[in-house]
Amino acid sequence: MGKKITIAIDGFSSTGKSTIAKLVAKKYNFIYVDTGAMYRAVALFAMEHNFIGEDFIDKAGLITKLKDITLSFHFNKEAGFAEMFLNQRNIEKEIRTLEVSQYVSRIATISEVRRKLVSEQQEMGKLGGIVMDGRDIGTVVFPEADLKLFMTASADKRATRRYKELIEKGDNVSYEDILFNVQERDRIDSTREDSPLVMADDAIEFDNSDMGITAQFNQICVLIDAIIL
Ligand code: C5P
Repeated sequence: MGKKITIAIDGFSSTGKSTIAKLVAKKYNFIYVDTGAMYRAVALFAMEHNFIGEDFIDKAGLITKLKDITLSFHFNKEAGFAEMFLNQRNIEKEIRTLEVSQYVSRIATISEVRRKLVSEQQEMGKLGGIVMDGRDIGTVVFPEADLKLFMTASADKRATRRYKELIEKGDNVSYEDILFNVQERDRIDSTREDSPLVMADDAIEFDNSDMGITAQFNQICVLIDAIIL
């Protein structure tokens, strides 16, 4: 049995972080935590309670209600990964819509939201054996992680992948809207004051614009094996 290490995967939107993280978790029998799902869950809660809309955001109102938000992951055997639950309700599908994507980065700028989610993430990872993906995992959540990866790819490649995913699910979206959303989220995520998206000094960068998932996964496994074996 190898060591139960902590792996942080950060990077821009739609760079395949979660695909890699799921493969790593499966191979090494680690827990996978999709922190983006947690921010998306809070965004959905904010939308449902009218704390955010196209032209307004009621940060103070949302902050007072944060204590009413209980997030949990429940493993779905068929899907092979843990689904996101908000107050005991399965919201896995709802949080993947373009509408939630359009609001989530503004919600993720709120420090009180970040503080709540970061402490829950640190709790989940305290025993190790974890692979977590997000924007601030290697910099803020687990600055002492055993391995830090930072994923990038061209905006066009990322938007194309996300567009295909949504179209396959039957969502009615345009490529232009997806491209705009991916770039807009990157802009907000990289320029926010609290925990901006930046590459940790000791992270290893992967540009997968022209690299398949298998090739990338194999390279990452070599890195992991060197640590755990
Ligand atoms: O990973 P995903 O694209 O689902 O994340 C959705 C959004 O949640 C990001 O664009 C970002 O605004 C926010 N996020 C964050 N910190 C994380 C994970 C996600 O701010 N650790």
